[in-house]
Formats: sequence, structure tokens, C-alpha cells
Amino acid sequence: MTPDQPEEPADAALRRGIHPVICYPVETLPAPPMALYLAARETAAPVQTVTVPPREARCFRVPAGHFFRIHAVEGPQVGDLNLWNGADLGERFYSGKTRALHGTHLSAGDRMWSSFPYLRPMATITHDTLGWYGFDAFGGSVHDVIGTRCDPYTHNLLSHGGQYHHCCHSNLTRALAAETGLSQAEAERHVHDVLNVFMCTGFTRDAGQYFMKASPVRPGDYLEFFAEIELLGALSACPGGDCSAEHSSDMAACFPLEVEILRVDPAMLSDWKGPVPNGYDRSHGL
Ligand SMILES: [Zn+2]
Repeated sequence: MTPDQPEEPADAALRRGIHPVICYPVETLPAPPMALYLAARETAAPVQTVTVPPREARCFRVPAGHFFRIHAVEGPQVGDLNLWNGADLGERFYSGKTRALHGTHLSAGDRMWSSFPYLRPMATITHDTLGWYGFDAFGGSVHDVIGTRCDPYTHNLLSHGGQYHHCCHSNLTRALAAETGLSQAEAERHVHDVLNVFMCTGFTRDAGQYFMKASPVRPGDYLEFFAEIELLGALSACPGGDCSAEHSSDMAACFPLEVEILRVDPAMLSDWKGPVPNGYDRSHGL
């Protein structure tokens, strides 16, 4: 990557051979009560379905203690997911810290954490029909928190002036503006890095470049979440379709996605308490 490659020091092999340590061992994180969630989901019944058209986004609302599922319905399609506190757009999904805690790709048992100063679980993944995929021979896996979202600004740079209006960033902006009544300029400020639902991605082993490959998702697959707090969600059906070739254009075959909101028997959650905002006192040493 650097234009001028310095010579290796004599002890280069020794330095490279040092074993890594996990930055954030998650053993001491408050564990999600998965047994409770898995019992509760047995009583889940759909109360609403939101269809996301191809190359568009739609918002949806999930009360705390409900489940939601993102379904592939007509063909392999990737979705870009944003989450906000349903009562406060200032608390939103924090993809970077979620990545630091749970790794590059999420699956059942992992949680979607919120931005500072809240840093609490917004949603817990309770079922993943692609959980069998693991990591492939290229180092790829599904549902990443490493890509950000396709956007018209990066496209403009890479295409020397291209103007494309159906990148996930723009789709999410329009959907949030329509849901909240904010102007598009105001709404855009709240759009953030996503969970790339169903997308199959990784970093190349040689240069560490972000790659994508055709998603293994098929109609019938779904990713299921338990809403830890009241949520406003926005999901974009990416213009990249299954992301096998390109995004930021109308070239790829694109399909709708469905978001299903499910209510459970309230008695199943009688012992459950939603997470409170983070306990740090915010004095920052002053
Ligand atoms: Zn996209």
C-alpha cells in the first residue's frame, strides 16, 4: 500500500510470530437470555409485514419485546439495515463497536449495539437460516458489519462524476424522511453504517481489500431479531441484488425483501427487562 516499501528488520519473523489477543473478550458482556428468547419465539405470531421494493427502502417499527424477521422472498437479495431507538433518533446502531465485540459478521446470539453514550443492545439475533455458512475458503461470510452501505458519494468518486440515486444510502434517506417528516437533508444525517443482511463479504488475504461475492441466500431464508428496545428500522433492498457483480447501478437483478413484525405471548416475557442505557457516569475524568 505504501509507495516506498521499507526493508524488513532482522527480527521481522519474530515480530510477526507474536500471537494475537482478542481485543474485547466478550465473556464478561451481559449475556443475552437466549433460552428465554428461544422459548418466547415459539409463541411468535406475525402482526405486520412490510415489503421493501427492489432498489428502494422502507421503514418499520418494532415495539420492545417483539421479534422481527427479514425474509428473502423472490430471489437472492441483499439488504442494508439501519436501526434507531424508536423514540430518539440520537440513539442508533453502532456498527463499528458491534464489529469490535462480535467480529466481522453476525449470526444467532450476537447483538446489535447502540451508539455512545447509550451503548446497549438494541436487538439480539435469535435465528439465522444461513447460520450453516460459516466462513468459506475465501474468508467470506454473511451478514457483515464491515461494509458501510453503498452510497452516491463513493460512486461519484469512482465513476468520475456519476450521479446514481438508488444506492442504499439514498434509499434509506428517502425512507427515513418519508417516515419522520424530516427533510431529506435532515434525514440523511441520521443514516448510518449498516448491518449488511444476507451479503457475503470478506477481506482478501493478500491485500486486505473488501470483497463481495454472490450471496448464498435463497427465498425462504430469513434473519430474525428480538427487539431489546422500541425500534425504528429502515431496510434497503440493495441495487447490487445478490452482490455478485456490481452495485450503485441498475444492472443487477434485484428482488424485494419482506420485514415481518411478530408479537409473542406477553406471559413468556414476564421475567424479561429491557436494557438500560450504559452505566458510565460520563464525567470523562473532569
Ligand atoms: Zn447497497
